Amino acid sequence: MRTDVCVVGGGIAGLAAAARLVAAGLTVTVLECADDPGGRARDARIGGFVLGDGAHLLHTTWPTLRQTISPAELQLGGFAAGVRICSGGGGAGEPRADQARASQAGAGDQGSSAPADNVVRRVRFGAAPARPQQTFSVLRMPIGTAADKARLSKLLYRLGTTAPERALGGPEHSAADSYAVRGYSAELVDQFLRPYLAALAADEDLAASVRGADWLLRLLVRGRFAVAGAGTGALVRELVRRLPVGTIELGVRVHTVRADRVVGDTGEIRARATVVAADPYGAMELLPGLHEPRMRSVTTLWHAVDDAQLPFEPDRAPSVLVDAEPGSPIARTAVLSRAAPGLAPPGRALVATTVFGGDGKEPAALDRAVLDRLSHLHGVPSRRWETLDIRHVEHAVVTMQSPHNFARPVRLIKGLYVCGDHRDLPNVEGALQSGHRAAEAVLEDLNIQP
Ligand SMILES: Cc1cc2nc3c(=O)[nH]c(=O)nc-3n(C[C@H](O)[C@H](O)[C@H](O)COP(=O)(O)OP(=O)(O)OC[C@H]3O[C@@H](n4cnc5c(N)ncnc54)[C@H](O)[C@@H]3O)c2cc1C
Repeated sequence: MRTDVCVVGGGIAGLAAAARLVAAGLTVTVLECADDPGGRARDARIGGFVLGDGAHLLHTTWPTLRQTISPAELQLGGFAAGVRICSGGGGAGEPRADQARASQAGAGDQGSSAPADNVVRRVRFGAAPARPQQTFSVLRMPIGTAADKARLSKLLYRLGTTAPERALGGPEHSAADSYAVRGYSAELVDQFLRPYLAALAADEDLAASVRGADWLLRLLVRGRFAVAGAGTGALVRELVRRLPVGTIELGVRVHTVRADRVVGDTGEIRARATVVAADPYGAMELLPGLHEPRMRSVTTLWHAVDDAQLPFEPDRAPSVLVDAEPGSPIARTAVLSRAAPGLAPPGRALVATTVFGGDGKEPAALDRAVLDRLSHLHGVPSRRWETLDIRHVEHAVVTMQSPHNFARPVRLIKGLYVCGDHRDLPNVEGALQSGHRAAEAVLEDLNIQP
């Protein structure tokens, strides 16, 4: 069999590369070993809820995502600006009704000054979209010293008013080293920066590149975190729609890749170019010698509850809640359907909770611990919430461990290319970007004008 370009892997990166190449007039064959395209971004509607392997937190400012699919098609629903960092209430058991009320009352923009014994303090970090000058509100937050607040406010202002590449372009250090040099207090680090990086980058050790950490901080002051009401699968379906019928061959595992051919379960395919868009470990098997990224496991707990049982936040916009309580299994949780109602049937709410680093071996025990803690975070009894699913993915997310290259070369040799979230930012935006970069490299080498 012959094709212009053979793409190995039908995740977001492979599909994005294939769509670009098809748009440039090339014939493309995508070989995907699973039964469906989408890779780690697959999801499915189950009983009226949209559930995936993970709760994909997207962002309204991601340029490649916006160029690929309109927010309307994705039914992109934004959360309140920034995140709420929650701490306190560490004791097991559900809060009493009066404590739950106190917890809600503390949910004003800056939260209460100090948490009482079993009451959760929630502090909002983030500025209104497109108004990064509001970063001075950091000065009023009840965490850190006056010097911390001044430094952080200045940093957020700089990050918010410059292009995202600027955040990724500075000198490379680990977040831990950089925060020491910047002079942040232990309180600011432990009660805000560490839980934020743990929740967004699976990095509780602050081993991430400070450039990646700053890129993540920028997301607090420009745009909003968001989820796709049509499911992240809507992005996958849109990319598949751009490919002629028959382009994707499902259930085909590729064993050998060369610049001019690939060999898979169904035999050999000859091509003018080969793009390896497998997941990081899959790519390393096909291309020994490729950089090995550090990956973390993710367990996502999906719960359902009657929407009327959940309180509304003061401005009625739901928040992404980051758990800063030491010992809590939870990294982040959110009522996704409050941001994107399409994710749940009418009258029901879909709550997604993310746990990093577990082994997925005792899901029932994890569920009990998570449900206990959720009552504190969401401020209402949660033990009777319905557990819809618990999904564990062993090699789920690429960490940004320092030193991290945010734009690894996609051209290995002329004719052989590699893309995926391990070559770029380790998320949906990075997977899209790397797919586009690989497609552009192919077109350049084949001398084809896009
Ligand atoms: C639990 C979880 C939570 C996440 N949360 C977020 C989030 O909140 N926000 C965010 O932006 N991102 C999140 N991500 C990350 C995001 O899903 C990935 O960055 C993105 O989907 C990666 O796409 P990809 O195409 O690079 O790789 P993949 O999706 O891994 O695609 C690679 C494809 O290649 C196929 N393949 C591998 N080897 C072969 C072979 N030899 N032959 C044929 N096919 C092969 C695989 O089956 C797979 O379909 C999360 C991921 C997980 C798992």
